[in-house]
Amino acid sequence: MTETLTRRGLLIILSSPSGAGKSTLARRLRDWDPDLGFSVSATTRKPRPGEVDGEHYRFVTEAEFKSDVAAGEMLEHAHVFGNFYGSPKGPVEEAINRGCDVLFDIDWQGAQQITNSALGQHTLSIFILPPSIAELRRRLETRAQDDADTISRRMQKSWDEISHWGGYDYVLVNDDLDATENQLKTIISATRLRRQQQPQLTDHVRDLQSEFEELA
Ligand code: ADP
Ligand code: 5GP
Repeated sequence: MTETLTRRGLLIILSSPSGAGKSTLARRLRDWDPDLGFSVSATTRKPRPGEVDGEHYRFVTEAEFKSDVAAGEMLEHAHVFGNFYGSPKGPVEEAINRGCDVLFDIDWQGAQQITNSALGQHTLSIFILPPSIAELRRRLETRAQDDADTISRRMQKSWDEISHWGGYDYVLVNDDLDATENQLKTIISATRLRRQQQPQLTDHVRDLQSEFEELA
């Protein structure tokens, strides 16, 4: 059989305490595979300098957010650092039905909701740990994106996020960035070959069976 077997897209969830490196790794993965989509979350938090509406986040009011949730348009949603965040369902379903994977940069609450949903069988969840708490703080400080208060708040919340590491398919310690990037590529490449990502396998096996029976 020469026909190419199409595949179903994966929902690839990256979670970590803030500063462990998930945005950096997500950027590298998208350079590696330009077909990898990114789920642009809706949030009620205010944009940071340099953040573009519709690219980093869709910045919405609380009323807009709540109306989207009520209309069933969110795959998952959560309250994080005093703001609402959620992953719109439409673009994700469209991408995975086309056979494109979608990356999510979401917290443990969102990861749990997606993993427990009907799309759970097409989900790959990965948790990124820092090599140490001192290094986590150093990364937050060198990123120079937040003021001292915000960094303290993020550090205080980091244990809450880390404590959910056991709910993920894979857990990586992001010490050397290149090594972690390579580990992620290996995990994604292997998961793309999972049986449930290849819907046409059923037809292929049926064809093999017919051929087998004709020969018998
Ligand atoms: P997150 O998205 O998890 O909040 P970022 O990707 O913004 O974290 O990374 C925080 C900072 O740490 C950035 O300045 C980034 O360049 C740096 N960083 C990420 N991974 C590593 C690593 N393995 N070694 C050293 N610095 C890193
Ligand atoms: P930040 O405000 O720093 O961009 O994100 C704060 C936290 O919210 C991060 O842990 C990030 O992963 C998480 N987050 C961002 N978007 C979503 C989302 O759509 N759903 C959930 N559950 N968490 C999100």
